[in-house]
Amino acid sequence: MSDCLFCKIAAGEIPSTKVYEDEEILAFRDIAPKAPVHILLIPKKHLASLAEAGPEDAALLGKMQLLARQLAEQEGVAESGFRVVANSGPNSGQEVAHLHYHLLGGEPLGDIRG
Ligand code: 5GP
Ligand code: ZN
Repeated sequence: MSDCLFCKIAAGEIPSTKVYEDEEILAFRDIAPKAPVHILLIPKKHLASLAEAGPEDAALLGKMQLLARQLAEQEGVAESGFRVVANSGPNSGQEVAHLHYHLLGGEPLGDIRG
C-alpha cells in the first residue's frame, strides 16, 4: 500500500531500527517506546489489522508469534516477562493501519496496552 507508514518502513523508504528481518517479516524498535523493550513486528505484506487476516495467513501469524518469543529471549526479557499486543480497529486505539504486534518488556508493565 503506497500510503501506509509501515509498508514504507518495510520497503526501507522510511528508516527504522531493525532487530529482525526476513522475506515476510520485519521487527523494529518503536519510535516512542512505552517500556525498556518495545519492538514492533510487522508482516511485509499489507494487512490493515488482525481483523483482515484469514486462514491463508495462519503460517505467517504463527511465525510472528514465535518470533516475538525469540526476540523476548534475545532482549533478555523472556524470564522476567513480556507482553504481546495487537491493537485492531477504533476501540483498540490502533493508530497505524498495518497489522503489527507490540512486544513489550523490561519492567512491570501494569496496564500498558502498547
Ligand atoms: P498502534 O497504536 O497502531 O497499535 O501502535 C502504533 C505504534 O507505532 C506506536 O507505538 C507508535 O509509537 C509507533 N510508531 C508510529 N510511527 C512510527 C515510526 O515512524 N517509526 C517507528 N519505529 N514507530 C512508529
Ligand atoms: Zn501497510
